[in-house]
Amino acid sequence: MDKKRERELGMDRTITRRDFLNGCALTVGASLMAGRTEFLKLIAASEDFPEKNPNYYPPAKTGMRGSHDGSWEVAHAMRDGETWPEAVDEKESYDLVVVGGGISGLASAYFFRKFAGANSKILLLDNHDDFGGHAKRNEFQAGKRSLIGYGGTQSLEAPHHYSKEAFGLLAEIGIDVDRFHKYFDENLYKGMKLKRATFFDQETFGVDRLLPGFGTHYLGLTYPPEILAQIPIAEPARKDLARLQEEKVDYFSGLPAAEKRGTLIKTSYKDYLLRYVKVHPDVIKIFQTAPHGLYAVGIDAVSAWDCLEMEYPGFQGINLHSSGDSPEQAEPYIFHFPDGNASVARLLVRSLIPDAVPGTTMEDVVTSRVKYSRLDDSEFSIKIRLNSTAVRARHIGDPQNAKQVEVTYVRGGKAYKVLTSHCVLACYNMIIPYLCPEMPEKQKEALHYCVKLPLVYTNVQIRNWESFQKLGISSIYAPGGYFNGASLDFPVSMGDYRFPSSPQEPCLLHLLRTPCQPGLPAKEQYRAGRYELMTTPFVAFERNIRDQLGRMLAGGGFDSARDIQAITVNRWPHGYAYEYNPLFEPLDRPASERPCVIGRQPFGRIHVANSDADGHAYTNIAIDQGYRAVQEIIAGEDHRAATDVLAPTLRS
Ligand SMILES: Cc1cc2nc3c(=O)[nH]c(=O)nc-3n(C[C@H](O)[C@H](O)[C@H](O)COP(=O)(O)OP(=O)(O)OC[C@H]3O[C@@H](n4cnc5c(N)ncnc54)[C@H](O)[C@@H]3O)c2cc1C
Repeated sequence: MDKKRERELGMDRTITRRDFLNGCALTVGASLMAGRTEFLKLIAASEDFPEKNPNYYPPAKTGMRGSHDGSWEVAHAMRDGETWPEAVDEKESYDLVVVGGGISGLASAYFFRKFAGANSKILLLDNHDDFGGHAKRNEFQAGKRSLIGYGGTQSLEAPHHYSKEAFGLLAEIGIDVDRFHKYFDENLYKGMKLKRATFFDQETFGVDRLLPGFGTHYLGLTYPPEILAQIPIAEPARKDLARLQEEKVDYFSGLPAAEKRGTLIKTSYKDYLLRYVKVHPDVIKIFQTAPHGLYAVGIDAVSAWDCLEMEYPGFQGINLHSSGDSPEQAEPYIFHFPDGNASVARLLVRSLIPDAVPGTTMEDVVTSRVKYSRLDDSEFSIKIRLNSTAVRARHIGDPQNAKQVEVTYVRGGKAYKVLTSHCVLACYNMIIPYLCPEMPEKQKEALHYCVKLPLVYTNVQIRNWESFQKLGISSIYAPGGYFNGASLDFPVSMGDYRFPSSPQEPCLLHLLRTPCQPGLPAKEQYRAGRYELMTTPFVAFERNIRDQLGRMLAGGGFDSARDIQAITVNRWPHGYAYEYNPLFEPLDRPASERPCVIGRQPFGRIHVANSDADGHAYTNIAIDQGYRAVQEIIAGEDHRAATDVLAPTLRS
């Protein structure tokens, strides 16, 4: 990109310096409030404990977030064989140490305390500067107005279908999911007649063209004739697209239903379209990235059966029905806090360490300012230690008879160790073999099997959303774009937080990128994508954001240089938990032979949680796996109590 174009896009604007200026303002403000001497003491203490610094407030950081720099280096060094000098003995011992402060780790601590009693001593370690794992909060300031966005885990999906443990936990921490019907304004965009749109880009389709009225949502993938005529693809492809959408053809006529289903499961949607529906290759370009948001790969690596379930076109005549919910059972997609499920993490932390998250309700947690200095405080029996990467979890003695586990972690370049009666590894499956090399080979192999899906959730603060109103759109699907699409934020107002519901107000746009490599097997695509994410600097994301938004919204008068006020790129090289892909894996594997089941077996006093442990990337699964891990701890203790009359029992 030449210098002139860079200037047009506003690459010379120093939006991310906003952080520095805010930081200075906060420092001055805090020093005035705390008294200068007191304040200097706090700053000195914060060299070893940055969380004690009064300015420490990670949700307000912009720039590169998600797996931010500083969070991943220790783990990668450990993977590459790095060791640390003798760990400092913290002389701390716990009933439970949890590695991973995501929803699964927080839920593990929650369930453990419930069973073992209010005075349980629990330490949670996390390598990030904030808790919540994928459930990440992004805050922005637009003049006097705060904007709150989600940097990862987006919504509670169909919560009435959650297990009684997961639903019960939500209720116990104060979440009444039915209130979202009131908080989520389902009529805002509808009332303004804003629709989904598709952006056809010049590089892929030969011309930049935004066609309003369509998007990637499961039910919205059809184009009416007047729009179809304008799609920039070859004429035969346009005819094929019309045929694909409209014709009711059974491409497997004569085959029994089970055989049809079997074929669809083992055929990618791309192959189905090319081989059976026989569409022109230009049609593929439109659908290639449609499943990115859910699968983090395109239609070359997603089965036709999955696409049938998502109601993609081409199955109208095939006479097979999706195994999903009936319309009466389906729940609307409205269970969304302004910061996504970061509010679930905050409510869990409030329950574990009430002083750290002021307030009492699911509404006030949205605007509550977390006191990070209280997360790791000797006053409380439960502590969350951020910026701390576990590098070892080792039984003191043989795993079957050991009474304690020693957990070593690295923080600020130094190693520390603590002792614990029980350990839950609520971190990623693939890191566990490095933490516990003594585990059985079969278990380590199963844990390594999981390759997490890389993806990027970006929040862009814009001056106003008049361009969307002018264009009559609320979200855009961009099949050839660097970002797969962009949408206006979910219109949710709750507690003291008001969604910017007037187009004249500043608001947040949400952009998705999934850096996969079409043509490779799914896992290879994820590995390549992860590499790409770790080697792409923020400035490259920014350039693409400015270029793509400018081009997509040009017709609405949007000007990237003028209208973009702040950017937060949440990079998740270890994103969604790996879900088995029938295109590349056996179908007949019994449940007990699933790698996640083999991987999550208890190993002495060490237990495995995290959504990886069930191979499903969902909040309820993260909670369920925390619950299971704690059940296993209790069963182990009950067993020890039954075989050794002197052993104390865990039940409170
Ligand atoms: C972008 C994105 C969007 C999502 N959207 C949704 C959604 O809308 N709804 C939904 O239900 N689910 C969603 N998910 C799935 C989400 O992963 C789960 O909902 C859930 O948050 C996972 O929680 P977890 O605790 O299992 O894992 P994580 O959130 O990954 O937490 C594990 C934590 O352990 C840390 N860790 C790893 N190794 C170590 C170590 N050695 N030492 C210390 N800490 C370590 C990790 O860095 C992380 O902070 C989304 C995921 C992503 C990435």
